[in-house]
Amino acid sequence: MLLAGIAILVVGAATLAGFGIRRGDLPGKALVGEARDASLTLDLPSAVADVAVSEARVPGRPILLIDPGHGGHDPGSKSVSGAVEEKALTLALSTELRVLLVARGRVRVAMTRLDDRYVALEQRADIARRLGARLFVSIHMDHAPNPLARGVTVYSLADVASDADAARFAAAENKLATPLSSEPEGSVRAMLSDLALRDQMEDSAALAERIVRHAAGPVLLRPRPHQFAAFHVLRRTDIPAVLVEAGYISNVDDEAALMTPQGRAPLVLALAQAIEADLATRR
Ligand SMILES: [Zn+2]
Repeated sequence: MLLAGIAILVVGAATLAGFGIRRGDLPGKALVGEARDASLTLDLPSAVADVAVSEARVPGRPILLIDPGHGGHDPGSKSVSGAVEEKALTLALSTELRVLLVARGRVRVAMTRLDDRYVALEQRADIARRLGARLFVSIHMDHAPNPLARGVTVYSLADVASDADAARFAAAENKLATPLSSEPEGSVRAMLSDLALRDQMEDSAALAERIVRHAAGPVLLRPRPHQFAAFHVLRRTDIPAVLVEAGYISNVDDEAALMTPQGRAPLVLALAQAIEADLATRR
């Protein structure tokens, strides 16, 4: 779940000015799932470090940014058996998604982290902007007091939450975020910003629906799998963004499935298919 990460959000920690771009290999850096020679590296200061982009078979394909939730001193939730923390499962699933997409070769792929490190929420959105990513998919594992709660939920950006739970979920995150704009209301820039936000919300919802369509059947979904939440961090990416809760690690059966590559594979495949189809419709 996202709440644990929210509590330690450092607002405005990253001032990511003055980074250079170079083409070529990543010296001394082992890239998990990196199957292609060419990569684009952005040199970013401090915690953001190097962000590598896997090339697609055809040059110039859009970039998907996969965001494994939590990391470093932010472990996320602990699984019901106590065997694993959310941050490890989000990285495992994200890495498998990246490997699959790189093998299929239709989109370029980057990740906000490749190992067990802390990346602030602001920095994750910043990476999306700096890379010029076209889609942002954040991966999390759900957690609930009810041990029977199971299944996948896909959240897309909205200005109103779909229910009280989603509202609380988003409110907890937004509490620590800085205001998005100091523009006076009614100004031309504010109006353009509203139009851009509406497009961003519609595109985010379309991606969420697409993920749900591809997942339905092979993947256990919650009864209402597409939810809306007013995540400022999703909005800050300025691109279509969804947050996938890949299942409940507070449930014994979901935990068992999420702990193996075989158990994660159906969701990984559904995500890859939905992402490719979504990006194919964009200019
Ligand atoms: Zn989480």
